[in-house]
Amino acid sequence: MPITICTKECSGCGACFSICPKNAITLIPNVEGFLFPVVDSEKCINCNLCAKVCPVNNIDTSNSKTPEAFAVQANDEIRLKSSSGGVFTVLASYIFKQGGYVCGAAFDDSGKICHQVIYQENDLRLLQGSKYVQSAIGNTYKEVKNLLCSGKLVLFTGTPCQVAGLKSFLGKNYDNLITADLICHGVPSPKVFQKYIAELVPQMKFLRRLFSETNILEAGKIK
Ligand SMILES: Cc1cc2nc3c(=O)[nH]c(=O)nc-3n(C[C@H](O)[C@H](O)[C@H](O)COP(=O)(O)OP(=O)(O)OC[C@H]3O[C@@H](n4cnc5c(N)ncnc54)[C@H](O)[C@@H]3O)c2cc1C
Repeated sequence: MPITICTKECSGCGACFSICPKNAITLIPNVEGFLFPVVDSEKCINCNLCAKVCPVNNIDTSNSKTPEAFAVQANDEIRLKSSSGGVFTVLASYIFKQGGYVCGAAFDDSGKICHQVIYQENDLRLLQGSKYVQSAIGNTYKEVKNLLCSGKLVLFTGTPCQVAGLKSFLGKNYDNLITADLICHGVPSPKVFQKYIAELVPQMKFLRRLFSETNILEAGKIK
């Protein structure tokens, strides 16, 4: 069943996984550790929603006009917690002040990177900083849709592929949705990241203190 034109073009955005009415699609790491959709033919009812929602199959060209450009540099305190100029934190703080919520990439309890919706500004630190690895989208598209449908303001951040995946999953524009995608030349494999942590952690004890809040040490045990 061709979810995408070619699996090489699949970014693992998770739109197909999120839209499947029968939960017949699972995102499974391939040999390099990148997440790819796999269809359970026993559960599949051939509704074809997965193929219809795939951003690779339906390229959105609505952004093609020449964009306006702005340069932003946050203050020193924010930039110390950020990987670049800190515009993410500036945008996210604004959204919280408007009573909204923010979705982006964070470490989970097992040290893996996954998307999460943050409901209070105190938790913003979880999303700050670039994690140079593919972030699993999980059920966040559905969570964002529920918030949008209940009238909440949402800032969704991620790679351009994830923003395309969300928009395709939503299928219509929401006035209360703001998206911000980072400049991205591609995501490294989670498998490489896990190997890196496994090699690094035993040798560098200070990382234990640095990452103790995220339990990232557990990642070192993953083979
Ligand atoms: C996977 C990846 C590839 C990148 N490739 C390039 C590049 O080719 N050229 C370039 O100039 N810059 C690249 N960057 C840097 C990026 O474009 C921005 O400079 C930086 O994320 C913005 O920083 P900030 O200071 O505003 O916010 P920060 O606080 O540094 O970043 C937080 C934001 O990044 C998001 N984020 C963090 N990790 C991930 C992830 N793994 N997947 C999805 N979203 C994530 C969070 O959701 C949040 O929105 C890349 C970053 C990542 C994570």
